[in-house]
Amino acid sequence: MTALAPRPSYARFEAYEPGRRPVRIDLSDNTNQAGVPPSVRRLLEGAASSLVTRYPSVYGADLKRALATFAGVPEDAIVTGCGSDDVLDSAVRAFTEPGDRLAYPWPTFSMLPHLALMNGLEPAPVPLGDLDALAGARARVTYLCTPNNPTGGATPRADVLALAARTEGLVIVDEAYVDYGGESVVRDAAAAERVLVTRTMSKAFGLAGLRVGWGVGAPSLVRAVEKSRGPYKVGGLAERAAVLALTEDLGWVRARVAEVLAERARALEALRAAGLAPWASDANFLFVPVRSAKAAAEAFHARGVGVRPFGPDPEAVRISIGTREQMDEVLAIARDLSEELGGRP
Ligand SMILES: *Cc1c(COP(=O)(O)O)cnc(C)c1O
Repeated sequence: MTALAPRPSYARFEAYEPGRRPVRIDLSDNTNQAGVPPSVRRLLEGAASSLVTRYPSVYGADLKRALATFAGVPEDAIVTGCGSDDVLDSAVRAFTEPGDRLAYPWPTFSMLPHLALMNGLEPAPVPLGDLDALAGARARVTYLCTPNNPTGGATPRADVLALAARTEGLVIVDEAYVDYGGESVVRDAAAAERVLVTRTMSKAFGLAGLRVGWGVGAPSLVRAVEKSRGPYKVGGLAERAAVLALTEDLGWVRARVAEVLAERARALEALRAAGLAPWASDANFLFVPVRSAKAAAEAFHARGVGVRPFGPDPEAVRISIGTREQMDEVLAIARDLSEELGGRP
């Protein structure tokens, strides 16, 4: 037998591979270093077997109810998914045909070119910060991440809404890091016609391994995304954990966010004092330009810390903000490496 070929456009890209390696302190993926919310720890320690033997809810009704209260939007403006990756993929699939354009600023979430090519779309990157170019791309789908991964800056709400008004297709606003800073447009999206906001429980809520994401938009828009998504995407244990985190542990989440913001401010100062030039950040990571991203990531890794390299324009590493103890180590390493990283003496 000869091998069956996938759709021809799949020859254009490799499967997504973030390049994570085992390391003592992993600050490469922006997850919550303080662990899971206490209510979720109790759930995992208790007998939750009925959540495993039975199918979960078809479209996550309990989760939608908890999210609606959390976000201050109606339940019918919400769609859930197996991580926000799933919501993004389902939304793109629902509103495009192969050959359509997907525009996004670059650099941004590294899944974007993959998301386009997985769906047979033309990736259309524009320079970061150039909202005129983004609107001018006249794409079927326009994506904006705020605060932006990996650079950290947020786009003001007024600018996001102005962008949406100037485009014609679907506008996706990825707010994966809005728990840490920037202005959310969830309530605007619920009342708009073509805007989908995506959010995740993988970062501030500490549930990345359970895969829970959600989106907010006009009811007719999110119903189309849900149709494209299909049933049973959020597992039963994942849904219960997410509901518990949202209803019993918002205080825990907010306290951990406050710690991250304090550590972020301290790290920004310390890296600047070490001669480096980290970008201002509204998220739970810092984007630090370096001479060679690959060499810098290797040097950190050799000292037990995982950071994510980016490049070439610009060469930089993204360092997730960890606990105070983790950041003490990271900052000491950064001071030691400063010259090698390209810092001013
Ligand atoms: C981490 C991240 C996501 C999230 O993903 P999940 O699939 O919900 O884990 C989405 N967008 C951006 C920009 C991210 O950095």
